[in-house]
Amino acid sequence: MTPSAPRIEIDLDKIEHNAHCLVEQLKTRGIAVTGITKATRGLAAVATAMRRAGVSGIGDARIQNIDRMRRARVRASFALTRAPMPSEVKQVIRCADISFNSEPAVIAQLADAARRAGVRHGIVLMVEMGDLREGLMPADLADAARRVIELPNVFLQGIGCNLACYAGVAPDAEKMNALSAHATALEHGLGIHIDTVSGGNSANLEWALGGASRGRINNLRLGESILLGRETLHRKVLPGLHTDAFGIVAEVIESKRKPSAAWGRIAQSAFDVPPEQGREGDMNRAILALGRQDCDPEGLTAPAGIRILGASSDHLIVESQAGALTVGSEHVFQPNYSALLRAMTSAHVTQHVLGRRSPTHDCRAAGTDETRAMYP
Ligand SMILES: *Cc1c(COP(=O)(O)O)cnc(C)c1O
Repeated sequence: MTPSAPRIEIDLDKIEHNAHCLVEQLKTRGIAVTGITKATRGLAAVATAMRRAGVSGIGDARIQNIDRMRRARVRASFALTRAPMPSEVKQVIRCADISFNSEPAVIAQLADAARRAGVRHGIVLMVEMGDLREGLMPADLADAARRVIELPNVFLQGIGCNLACYAGVAPDAEKMNALSAHATALEHGLGIHIDTVSGGNSANLEWALGGASRGRINNLRLGESILLGRETLHRKVLPGLHTDAFGIVAEVIESKRKPSAAWGRIAQSAFDVPPEQGREGDMNRAILALGRQDCDPEGLTAPAGIRILGASSDHLIVESQAGALTVGSEHVFQPNYSALLRAMTSAHVTQHVLGRRSPTHDCRAAGTDETRAMYP
């Protein structure tokens, strides 16, 4: 049976290869990799491919995704990379081994929930290093660390920071040296050993694979670079990595010769801004059944001979430069991170897993129906 369209094809072998290459390269520099699965909504087969490649743990921003991977029997240490909501601390304690935190009051709630559950939970304190997303201000770090040490049922796993996510601040040698210095200062000040110093995400690879000293940094949290084969400061392809582990397949529902320019009085379109109008006369235009409810059309790269003209909720409008497209034919588009994230989250996009499959997970059950039943 042909799988239905639109669908996202997920090549586990390519994901495993990418993860393996990064794990091995970083291992020689003393850096372990936490594989980040949030862009795939915690798809167990992807987590298992990362595990096979040797990542030291799995991280996800959402506790539901971690719960989903646990239920699918992915064996790993799980880290919640987004600071827990106070309303979810019980679930965080139940599903995650470690969480990344910046609010001492929430850490106290985690400790309380861990005590009730009779477990120990690891805390990574995030430090604000200038990108202005999450993190304690450096001046408050020592006090927060002391409070973690004093609480029952939680332990200080380490410190970390996150850059290049909001303001685009680069994780360069200066920032990484500053984070290392925070780790050393905490050790001296509190008489403890800091185990994990997590330097950042896929934007750190230029620094990590370059010549600079790694200092105390011994962990990176990698999502996009494993999944899409690029570092994220300049979106440069990482040597030897696959950039096409994911493909979004869409089907043509209309194919006609039409003018390149709209006619009539031009006001707003469905998404506010009417597109630029071409002046090339008639062209081979086609519509594919793929829209903003399925992915981020701005984040798609079209196959050769096809040019994306625009999109609405459910329609992708293209020009075919090499003859008319056949109604019913399928075409594969390459997603960037934004398109990937939305496609993996859309209830309208079926997921088709290729390559080695997780022996512990039935990939046919990995679609959105299963998750909707689990998290109504
Ligand atoms: C998403 C996320 C990552 C992974 O980022 P990539 O750019 O996909 O590598 C790492 N750390 C945190 C805190 C995150 O939220």
